[in-house]
Amino acid sequence: MKELVVLGAKESGMGAALLARRRGLEVFVSDAGKIGEDFRATLTTNGIPFEEGGHTADRVLSATEVVKSPGIPEVAPIMMELRRRGVPVIGEIELAARYTSSPIVAITGSNGKTTTTLLTYHILRNAGMDVGLGGNVGHSFARLVAERDHAHYVLELSSFQLDDIRDFRPHVAVLLNITPDHLDRYHHRMEDYVASKFRIAMNQNAGDHFVHNADDPVIAHALDHHTVNARRWPFSIVRDLPQGGCVHDDQLRINIDQTTFHMSMIELALQGKHNVYNSLAAGIAARILEVSKDVVRESMSDFQNIEHRLERVGTVNGVLFINDSKATNVNSAWYALESMDRPVVWVAGGVDKGNDYGELQDLVKQKVKAIICLGTDNKKLHKAFKGTIERMVDVNSADAAVRMGYDLAEPGDVVLLSPACASFDLFTNYEDRGRRFKAAVKAL
Ligand code: ADP
Repeated sequence: MKELVVLGAKESGMGAALLARRRGLEVFVSDAGKIGEDFRATLTTNGIPFEEGGHTADRVLSATEVVKSPGIPEVAPIMMELRRRGVPVIGEIELAARYTSSPIVAITGSNGKTTTTLLTYHILRNAGMDVGLGGNVGHSFARLVAERDHAHYVLELSSFQLDDIRDFRPHVAVLLNITPDHLDRYHHRMEDYVASKFRIAMNQNAGDHFVHNADDPVIAHALDHHTVNARRWPFSIVRDLPQGGCVHDDQLRINIDQTTFHMSMIELALQGKHNVYNSLAAGIAARILEVSKDVVRESMSDFQNIEHRLERVGTVNGVLFINDSKATNVNSAWYALESMDRPVVWVAGGVDKGNDYGELQDLVKQKVKAIICLGTDNKKLHKAFKGTIERMVDVNSADAAVRMGYDLAEPGDVVLLSPACASFDLFTNYEDRGRRFKAAVKAL
């Protein structure tokens, strides 16, 4: 039988299956694990055949094409066999892009993707545009297209999603930054991870736009080695740029052709240095799409930040608690610590993805008075900071971390959960970690 096989039945696989079904393709879903209740019900109602708990090799390998979920690594046996036989494999982003011709703003980077994607979406919506929001945040791109085609899309894309595109061509591509992350999936080779991020621009042409961080040394170096055909829009917070985005006299500036947009930095809804980058990137994308200056200004000042990103949970007897559970790598924790303006009791730890804590040493020395290690194995944290910080304690629940933080902090201090690590040792995911942290603060 000629059919499309979808590997993995989570949000992206489901989106792909629904889209394929609605566009009249024969589709079969195969998941090596168990399929969640909701997803199973959706498959059944839509008459999509599926299997779970393993792949029927014959059926999968005879697919006309396979749509693979981003979570499935190339080293999975079924993937190795598909590659060996030369069966075409794409990701759900590629599939979805075949069924829409609307312009796409695609946003990637090691950190700040969700924030910048939601901010861009907020601006475009305020401008009255018909915009679909999805990708690595919210609904999959394929599900959006399956339900209703929009006039524009704003997509958050991870490097795993970019690995499985072929002809996908965003009209505006945004590359926020590149710092080491997920290296386990890239043979521990930074250049492979960088190449993956640059795929966002590989199909763009001269009529498209590539918005990128000009202060990022990894991007600067990579620009010499990767072809970018789109028009480039750099942004920087350390130097003026005649075209693109920069900061001048405490004002954010965006120069697009002959026009200049400016806005006072204190008006920005998102504070902190990292968010200046995110605001510049979103602002440039919006101005390229000709959103008026007034709408950009208003939207960048009334945007509501999202949960688990430097989220102020509350103050208890003068001690401020901040939930930055989404900081799952060293660079995002760096920005969190950098933006703290009072003594910090730092809650860190979890699943280490090959972290190098060296770059945090100076900030920790300057700002941190105690470290609470929240993980099942905290040896690496202890080793990294034992010479810098006297007080380091181990806890194994969010509750204990909050109580310990409250004990160690004095009025005027901040207890910052910004773990620099993934959460899977003690929690279901970073949201679970953040919510438990917040619940414990509320219970104090
Ligand atoms: P992503 O979707 O790329 O994981 P988020 O917007 O969810 O990014 O933010 C993840 C973490 O990184 C948060 O802790 C946030 O405070 C921090 N962060 C946000 N933007 C940036 C940036 N431009 N550079 C570094 N860290 C950032």
